[in-house]
Amino acid sequence: VDQLKDSMTCPLCGKPVAESADAVRTTAFLTKRDPLWRSAGRQIHRSCFLVWDKREEFVRKFNIVMQRIHRMDPRGDITDVD
Ligand SMILES: [Zn+2]
Repeated sequence: VDQLKDSMTCPLCGKPVAESADAVRTTAFLTKRDPLWRSAGRQIHRSCFLVWDKREEFVRKFNIVMQRIHRMDPRGDITDVD
């Protein structure tokens, strides 16, 4: 039950993320050894993401891990890599 609840709440503010909400959605691309792992594989409100002090670090790590597949821009928008 807690896992399901986690998957629907924003890790930055702890509030629910509606399916239609403007949000940053990633796969679980970090291992538990990474201090930011709790924010990976979750939905993060765009408004929370943009003011997050770890945003640059999160984007940088996403782009390192996913470099052959996806690319994230500073706003959290994800595109496929050709
Ligand atoms: Zn939030």
